Amino acid sequence: MTEPADAESLIRARMPRWPAETVRIDRGVGRVLAETIRAERDEPPFDRATMDGIAIAHADWASGVRRFRILGVQPAGAPPLALTRPGECVRIMTGAACPRGADTIVPTERLEIRGTEAAIDATEVNARQFIHARGSDGRGGDTLLVPGVRLGPAEIAVLAGAGRAQTSVAIVPRVAAISTGDELVDPGEPVEPYQIRSSNDFAIEASLHRSGLANITRTRLKDDPDTMLTAIRALHESHDALILSGGVSAGDFDFVPSVLKSLGAELVFHRIRQRPGRPMWFGVSKAQKPIFALPGNPVSTLVCLTRYVAPALRYAAGRPDEPPERVRLTERVVGPAEFTYFLPVKLSSSGDGVALAEPRPTNTSGDFVSLAGTHGFVELPAGTHEAGKVARLFRW
Ligand code: AMP
Ligand code: MG
Repeated sequence: MTEPADAESLIRARMPRWPAETVRIDRGVGRVLAETIRAERDEPPFDRATMDGIAIAHADWASGVRRFRILGVQPAGAPPLALTRPGECVRIMTGAACPRGADTIVPTERLEIRGTEAAIDATEVNARQFIHARGSDGRGGDTLLVPGVRLGPAEIAVLAGAGRAQTSVAIVPRVAAISTGDELVDPGEPVEPYQIRSSNDFAIEASLHRSGLANITRTRLKDDPDTMLTAIRALHESHDALILSGGVSAGDFDFVPSVLKSLGAELVFHRIRQRPGRPMWFGVSKAQKPIFALPGNPVSTLVCLTRYVAPALRYAAGRPDEPPERVRLTERVVGPAEFTYFLPVKLSSSGDGVALAEPRPTNTSGDFVSLAGTHGFVELPAGTHEAGKVARLFRW
């Protein structure tokens, strides 16, 4: 049996890196950057007025000039005018480029303007006041964004500011979420008392869609090795990765491992020393596509997806590891003696900044109803843990 940390590194060692594609930046939110973005120009690109007023040469003020002749008006977006002689000024608007020969803005509140003359009513005027100096925020060519960054509103603004209409991002992989089981019936369909609603494929899709990690195709297969082989082969052709649920244990109808073997997939591990989710299977196809086969019990599926599959897909997209989040148990927990325990928890805030995690054990690994309202699960080493213990949290 493989240890959880080993399972994680074995998976990572076999994950591909998704190729890049070009997208328009207005389609880029949530995508993972695949290139370095450098500043197009200095930021700001010119000496920018931050107040409405007049632009003067500070040397004039220093030599005692208090009345300035207005040469013209400098609005935002217009090419800069120029001061040519002492005692000249230009009326300037916020956002405009400072005229050549000017280095100081005197705001409107300090002016009396009569016709073509502006008189300054101030005791102090500092050189370069109210000018947001060219290059003071950053220099042209500076690195602004690095590969692996997930694009949010701020990053999209940076791309636009760098003049990029398009950018290179990791593809969103096509992933098939395949539920197996003769007992499964889709929501919306009539269900017999001895049948089960198929929920795992929906949970997988919800998780990976929300995190931008995959475009999911949901499929349901009967427990029949021949139809499974044909269907999985076709899905393998048209997808970048497969996530199966169900049929990986030791039951008479658990055909998934043998079907994947017939497909020519290489087994990397089968069974992890953990509860729930012990029967998890991982391998790669001949085309080196990752195949995750998760146990069908809904709690096991969601735990294995969150603990192993989502991080693997994040890695394949080039996203850096997220810093581990730690929480404090509110109660003593008696876990299994020889297995890592994944325990669902509900979080609340605490005084000292480490969130509190209230255990919400499920009845069995089939009891997914109890997961509603939980935030995720903690990973606990085998054995007993006292209240107050700090543990790593995985959010759903
Ligand atoms: P298995 O891993 O195939 O032995 O399934 C274990 C348990 O999980 C069985 O009770 C199944 O009915 C249930 N199960 C399997 N697949 C799903 C699914 N897609 N949705 C909900 N329950 C499932
Ligand atoms: Mg089954």
